[in-house]
Amino acid sequence: MKLRNFLFTIFIATVCVACTTVALTGRKQLSLVSDSQILAMSAASYSDFIKESPLSTDQTKTAMVKRVGSKIASAVVSYMNSVGRAADIADYQWEYNLVQSDDVNAFCMPGGKIVVYTGILPVTQSENGLAVVLGHEIAHAVARHSSEQMSQQVALEAGSSVISGLLGGASQTTQNIVGTVYGLTGSLGTLKFSRQHEYEADHMGLVFMAMAGYDPNGAVTFWQRMAQQSGGSSFELLSTHPSDAKRIAEIQKFLPEALQYYKK
Ligand SMILES: [Zn+2]
Repeated sequence: MKLRNFLFTIFIATVCVACTTVALTGRKQLSLVSDSQILAMSAASYSDFIKESPLSTDQTKTAMVKRVGSKIASAVVSYMNSVGRAADIADYQWEYNLVQSDDVNAFCMPGGKIVVYTGILPVTQSENGLAVVLGHEIAHAVARHSSEQMSQQVALEAGSSVISGLLGGASQTTQNIVGTVYGLTGSLGTLKFSRQHEYEADHMGLVFMAMAGYDPNGAVTFWQRMAQQSGGSSFELLSTHPSDAKRIAEIQKFLPEALQYYKK
């Protein structure tokens, strides 16, 4: 990283001219990209993706995906209402689809656009195991990790001109950069998150699944099963979600907090 970029990142982190706070964890995050831009891009790519993908014809499993997804989404909505942050997710249009594919993967795009691949169901094993995955993926969306990642790239690519543009209201500059960054990063559903984002999504996901009535202890056994599969080449989720002792240890640290919300 060039010195100028490094100093600029420090400047952003310190002054935080355009920051929001992540729900539940309270972490400050950079926010240079508007939600309306991200949600519109996300809705369009999700709709294209669903049109092109073979949906599962298994009605029982499809119903399970929709049930788990909507229970966790409802828990998130109630939680956000209770902490006075309903507006953060008011524009989300939750959707849940089960796609027929051997890939071991699932994702939630910004705005609550969820895809589960049938290939992950043998690893999740149960409705509770699926709740581990969907709690985590929904947490990425609620924590606006894609938006933060884009904001960081915008900041690094554009340097201080973006800030002066934002302060001066020259949003066209920012929009052009977002367009460029979006082109570079490709599908919002396949962004690779940082370790910090992964652990935060684990933390929030445990709480959300517990609030929805699922046992968060299932996260430990799910990630242990994923760790055993690490050699598998078709495990897409593993390529973006390293499963190792450190991750499982972090999850165990968050469990007591999550269990406070868990009612059988
Ligand atoms: Zn993740």
